[in-house]
Amino acid sequence: MVVISRKDAKALGLPRYFTGKPCKREHVSERYISGNCIACDLALKDARYKADPELFKGRVNKYRAENPEKVAESNRNYAKRHPAKMVAKAAARRAAKLLRTPPWVDHAKILPYYSRSRLWTILHGVMYHVDHIVPLQGELVSGLHVDYNLTVMQGPENSSKGNDFDPMTYIHTFPPGFYDD
Ligand SMILES: [Zn+2]
Repeated sequence: MVVISRKDAKALGLPRYFTGKPCKREHVSERYISGNCIACDLALKDARYKADPELFKGRVNKYRAENPEKVAESNRNYAKRHPAKMVAKAAARRAAKLLRTPPWVDHAKILPYYSRSRLWTILHGVMYHVDHIVPLQGELVSGLHVDYNLTVMQGPENSSKGNDFDPMTYIHTFPPGFYDD
């Protein structure tokens, strides 16, 4: 995490800053521009949720309904901080729509493909995207939205393959450790 003072973060229009110094409860965490420690805030929310989940959800929904512009701003900030997550989420939504996400999917294993694709795009200065090795909507067979059906490819999305996938000649290589458990 990069150390940035509250003043500098404010000047840059960032929603958070980071001093590297612990808060009252000894979290070394980012802080909101308001000065509140984010780890403290999350711990408090977690405790409130656990004490009464329904009450907590009701309050959150009420706040969201009453503060649409704050919610939109917070979503925009989140998207800015987590670009790879946004792309991974959009892909998950598409796959869900096509009913290609099995219940055993491990989203934690999927996200790294989107992070890698984003990193390579920045490092190489050319577009990379995450593709399904076996397409989600194939002509003969359809693949699943699971980590072992993902690959990072150069070029913008939907540019490449399309119907190149041939189930008669395709040989799938499982990642190391796939059969371990
Ligand atoms: Zn704290």
